[in-house]
Amino acid sequence: HASNLQGYAPICLGLEDFYIRRLYLRIQDCFGRPICSPPDAWFDVVERVSNDNNKTLKRTTKVSRCLNLGSYNYLGFAASDEYCTPRVIESLKRFSPSTCSTRVDGGTTTLHSELEECVANFVGKPAAIVFGMGYVTNSAILPVLIGKGGLIISDSLNHNSIVNGARGSGATIRVFQHNTPSHLENVLREHIAEGQPRTHRPWKKIIVVVEGIYSMEGELCQLPEIVAICKKYKAYVYLDEAHSIGAVGRTGRGVCELLGVDTADVEIMMGTFTKSFGSCGGYIAGSKELIEYLKYTCPAHLYATSISPPAAQQIISSIKVILGEDGSNRGAQKLAHIRENSNFFRSELQKMGFEVLGDNDSPVMPIMLYNPAKIPAFSRECLKRNVAVVTVAFPATPLLLARARICISAAHSRDDLIKALEVISEVGDLVGIKYFPAELYKE
Ligand code: PMP
Repeated sequence: HASNLQGYAPICLGLEDFYIRRLYLRIQDCFGRPICSPPDAWFDVVERVSNDNNKTLKRTTKVSRCLNLGSYNYLGFAASDEYCTPRVIESLKRFSPSTCSTRVDGGTTTLHSELEECVANFVGKPAAIVFGMGYVTNSAILPVLIGKGGLIISDSLNHNSIVNGARGSGATIRVFQHNTPSHLENVLREHIAEGQPRTHRPWKKIIVVVEGIYSMEGELCQLPEIVAICKKYKAYVYLDEAHSIGAVGRTGRGVCELLGVDTADVEIMMGTFTKSFGSCGGYIAGSKELIEYLKYTCPAHLYATSISPPAAQQIISSIKVILGEDGSNRGAQKLAHIRENSNFFRSELQKMGFEVLGDNDSPVMPIMLYNPAKIPAFSRECLKRNVAVVTVAFPATPLLLARARICISAAHSRDDLIKALEVISEVGDLVGIKYFPAELYKE
């Protein structure tokens, strides 16, 4: 029985992923049902139900409409938007769904150039380059930036796309303790002397890779401290803003804006369009020289079909809304709304006794379940009550640190959140995951 941790002894002994996955299929949840089988929310096929900004979803295996607490739709731009959608439709007619060409062979339309200019302006860098997929942006760019003889120092909880990019680069990889600047400094000190000029040290280049908001932790990066250390040791900073760009900061410009970091101190700014902008693709923003270099050398730019024009238009239009260039103040309202929603939901969960990870202002809030047997129990009981939550477990998290990960959206109304809190509280009692009395939270 999975709630008896003895069952996990073979995993702790280091069996391959494959066997662990098979084991998952055999073990049962704390109600004695198999762990990895439908009807778990995220093994389901879902449908859009209406034009409600992805706020609800319909499971095709059961005709029920659920409140969607799992989508990265931070600003509510997914699905239809009064400013973006007509422009996206127009771009579809004008440019077609695909350019069917690489960027260098006729696949760069006026929209692509406009998008790169718009992204560079938005994130506060002189230039930007865009790619058709966020994952590929990390995994294809890191090997172009650094190779054998270089040193990558990566946060221990960085996303898989970063891990794969780092591995593919051939550079030496060192990992520092998650979001711990002092440990980053120790690792740097082990490899170079403080203040040593770049030309006098054994590494061709050193890149420190971090995320703006960690997607499984909900935490904001300790960016000011990390940037200061990188300056001291003359290392470049690579910042993945997949979950922070558009979602935090006074004008949605991400963690640099929120934490008061000058974007000039972050040499390589990466982000994706799949969250706050309701589209797809990824970007790298940096100096004109860096972006020019990437345009001439990056295989994912030279040999891949360019980002789909309607997707590009969606990004341009959503950025215009965020900046108020659509002539309304909907962007500012969305930003205020996601902040209020996130802080309200987080503090209510804490008051109920859940152990919630992450920081204020972060729309990502993991609720700790710990025991993997509680994963399907929590997910199914929420689903029965028409609330869809994402649960995450090994190998995305350490084995005994399973969690439910709530993603809050500006599209959620206060009523939606109150109803969701009632459900989560009830299911939390049922499954036994109120581990953390409210007084344990620090102000
Ligand atoms: N970086 C991070 C930190 C992510 O969380 C993700 C995916 N959620 C990606 C990159 C990949 O982005 P995409 O899903 O847009 O391909």
